[in-house]
Amino acid sequence: MRLILLGPPGAGKGTQAKMLMGALDIPQISTGDILRAAIKENSELGQEAKKFMDQGQLVSDDIVIGLIKERIKEKDCENGFILDGFPRNIHQAEKLGETLKQMNQDIDLVIDFKIDNDELVDRLKGRCTCRECGAMFHLTARPPKQDKICDHCQGELYQRQDDNEETIVKRLEVYEKETAPLRGFYKNEGKLESIKAIGDVQEIFSSLCKLVVK
Ligand code: AMP
Repeated sequence: MRLILLGPPGAGKGTQAKMLMGALDIPQISTGDILRAAIKENSELGQEAKKFMDQGQLVSDDIVIGLIKERIKEKDCENGFILDGFPRNIHQAEKLGETLKQMNQDIDLVIDFKIDNDELVDRLKGRCTCRECGAMFHLTARPPKQDKICDHCQGELYQRQDDNEETIVKRLEVYEKETAPLRGFYKNEGKLESIKAIGDVQEIFSSLCKLVVK
């Protein structure tokens, strides 16, 4: 199963992708995570990407397309993958389509996470992630049992640098302008389904499973 999770920042794609990964036994591929890892390593690519990420802008298509082309050719992607945060615009979607075609593969399903922008700002401002296992919490809605400590592995929780109000607003604008048109793109290809991304995480996961495991 080759899946794309489509939805604005904070819609819960990462959380649901991690849950699906366990259920389907295929990897989650998050371009945001790959870029943050490159920043942590202080590689040239990371330094270049950081300039855009700190401003809530998209990193250049050449960089992310290159990363994805390499990643989906890896062995663990043989039976499929869950793309989270890629593609982010029509050009990326076209390049992904071309690459998959060369590999005799195709995207099976694109799931659009539906949620209002008002909800997103609060979600992103309070979001925190474990440095060790990637588990996600929210300072008020889903707080960890101990301050800044992961419930699952005791790792340190951190807030992303781009989860501040100014950058969040920019990211949401960029989403509407660049990424939202992908709904039409994949609808035309007959691949688009949607789920309501508000409410209990487990309930959202069961709606997702109903679409994915048919
Ligand atoms: P995310 O973790 O998906 O919210 O992405 C964080 C940031 O990484 C975005 O605001 C962009 O600056 C950058 N980024 C992630 N994925 C892409 C992509 N497919 N195309 C361009 N920039 C991306």
